[in-house]
Amino acid sequence: MSRRPIVAGNWKMNASGPRAAVEIAAAVVRELNDVTAVECAVCPPFTALMAVAEVVRHSRIGLGAQNMYPEEKGAFTGEVDPNALLEIGCKYVIIGHSERRAVFEETDEFINRKVKKALEKGLTPIMCCGETLDEREEGITLDIVRGHIDNGLADLRAADVRKVVIAYEPVWAIGTGRTAEPEDAQEVHAFIRHLLSEKYGRDTADTVRIQYGGSVKPENAKELFDQPDIDGGLIGGASLKADTFRDIVLAAR
Ligand code: PEP
Repeated sequence: MSRRPIVAGNWKMNASGPRAAVEIAAAVVRELNDVTAVECAVCPPFTALMAVAEVVRHSRIGLGAQNMYPEEKGAFTGEVDPNALLEIGCKYVIIGHSERRAVFEETDEFINRKVKKALEKGLTPIMCCGETLDEREEGITLDIVRGHIDNGLADLRAADVRKVVIAYEPVWAIGTGRTAEPEDAQEVHAFIRHLLSEKYGRDTADTVRIQYGGSVKPENAKELFDQPDIDGGLIGGASLKADTFRDIVLAAR
């Protein structure tokens, strides 16, 4: 089964102002606009989304947000709703990133509400899952990942699950320079696909794209993306420079 790889840049709270963000986005468009074999997206901070939307509008580079609130309007000070993201031109939204789980105490239940709302509105959720270092050392990686997947996708029908992109991101590999060995990452990706197959059937499991994230760099991207169940990456630090992001995207072809 061939799945179109997808590589997305999670800029986190970097290049938050429109000036810096436009510079990176313009360079990404220059470097990657002729790549058709890989679906590509950038996910700048909310404050830069509109400016970046203008830069990527007529390009092959998609736009994503890093978060959203699972309601359409109301008394939710500081939050951003899915209709605003759609109006700006977002196609994707990252949901349940480990930094949101750890720093902002997001629960699986809240993440599930966001995934459902994103799907209802026609946004593609990039739903993150992954274990901490303590959990890996305790030998409970697969239990943790199973919990994130089961709870994050709770109540969804197979037709909706097919639209979700899953990002497996071992927390100990995010922003640390430590990357999972390709075989270890593959083991977890295969496990996720097996879970999806059990719950939603083989066709759905074969359709869902599962990205790897955690210190992906041009030097390690190809080995990771060559694994049979790794369908691209969610890239943090290395997505802030157009040339390194390009090399990572090209490794996913
Ligand atoms: C991320 O933020 O999702 C991520 C994987 O970061 P980094 O590539 O910097 O480890």
